Amino acid sequence: MIPSITLDELLARFKLDPAPFKPVAGRYPCRLTRYYAGLIQKPGDPIWRQCVPDPLELADDGQHPDPLDEERLSPVPGLIHRYPDRAVLLVSNRCAVYCRFCMRKRQVGCGAVGLDMERAIAYLAATPQIRDVVLSGGDPLLLPADQLHSLLGRLRTIPHLEIIRIGSRVPVTAPGLITPALCRMLAEHHPLYLNTHFNHPRELTGEAAQACCLLADAGIPLGNQTVLLRGINDQHAVLEQLFSGLLRLRVRPYYLHQMDLVKGTAHFRTPLVRGMELIAGLRGKVSGLAIPHFVVDLPGGQGKVPLLAQTARHGDDGWTIRNLAGNPVSYHDLPGSL
Ligand SMILES: *Cc1c(COP(=O)(O)O)cnc(C)c1O
Ligand code: SF4
Repeated sequence: MIPSITLDELLARFKLDPAPFKPVAGRYPCRLTRYYAGLIQKPGDPIWRQCVPDPLELADDGQHPDPLDEERLSPVPGLIHRYPDRAVLLVSNRCAVYCRFCMRKRQVGCGAVGLDMERAIAYLAATPQIRDVVLSGGDPLLLPADQLHSLLGRLRTIPHLEIIRIGSRVPVTAPGLITPALCRMLAEHHPLYLNTHFNHPRELTGEAAQACCLLADAGIPLGNQTVLLRGINDQHAVLEQLFSGLLRLRVRPYYLHQMDLVKGTAHFRTPLVRGMELIAGLRGKVSGLAIPHFVVDLPGGQGKVPLLAQTARHGDDGWTIRNLAGNPVSYHDLPGSL
C-alpha cells in the first residue's frame, strides 16, 4: 500500500474550495501520494500543476483522446505494435499519481485494464521480429511483486525477446516502493532496462535518489523520459538542473517529449520550436550525456521523430555546419570518400 492523500485533504491544507476541482476529478481521476503531494510548496507550483486537476482540462480543445492511434495499432487489446521490432504492453491502468498531462489520459485510472494477457503473450511468442518489449500502462511497478515476477518470467520464456523495458514513474511519485527485495526480483530478469519520468529538479529528492540507487545497483540501466510542459520545465535553467541532476543519480536523460496532442492537455503544450531551442541551448554547455533527444510522436501512430535545430547545409561548395556559437564552418568530405 502506498500512503496516499485525498484531493480534499490537499485542498484543505491550502484552504481552497474543492468545488471547481470536483468536475475535473470526476472526468479524469485524481490520485496523489502523500510523498509527492508533500513536494508541493504552493498552489500552482511545478509539482502542483503536474498532479492537481485543473478546470482547463475540460476545455473544448478540439483534440483527440488517442491521437497516436494506439488502439488501432493494437493487434491484441493492451498490446501496441507500431514498430517492427518493438511492442508496448499496457500491463495496468493504475499509477501512483495520475499526471494531468498524461498521454493515456483517456484510460489511466479508469476501470479495468483492457489487456488480454494470454493473447498478448501468445502474440509476442508468435512474432519473432519483436525483440524489445516495453511494459507500460499505467505503472508496471504498481503490480503486486509476485504478479510482475510471473509476467517477467513468462516473457523471458520467449527466446526472441532480447530485452525487456519497464516504464515507471514510481521512482518519482512513490520512491519508497522501490525496495531491495523488488530490485532483487527485477534483477532475475536481465537484460532489463527501466525508463523513469522526472520532469522537474524539485523531484530529485533524497528518497528518489535512494530509489534510483537501488535500481542502478541491481544492474538496471536507467533512462529518463521528460515531457516538456509549459510553465513547468520549459526553461533552460530548469532543464539543465534536471538533466545534470539525473546524471548524478546514474539516470541517463533519454527523451524530451513534445506534449502529444491529447484532449485535455492543451494548456501544457509549448510550440515545437521551443523544445528544439532548449536542446540546442544545452549543447556545449553540459555533458553530452545530459542531453536527451527532443522527440515528437507523430499523430496517427507514425512514430517518434527526433527534432534538431538545423545545423548542417550542403551546397555546391560542400557542407556548412554551424558551430556551437552559431557561426558557419565549412566542412568537406574527403575526395573519393563513399
Ligand atoms: C515509444 C514507443 C516505443 C519505443 O520507442 P523507442 O524509440 O525505441 O524508445 C515502442 N512502441 C511504441 C508504440 C511507442 O510509442
Ligand atoms: S505515470 Fe505515466 S502513465 Fe501514469 S499518469 Fe503519469 S504519465 Fe500517465
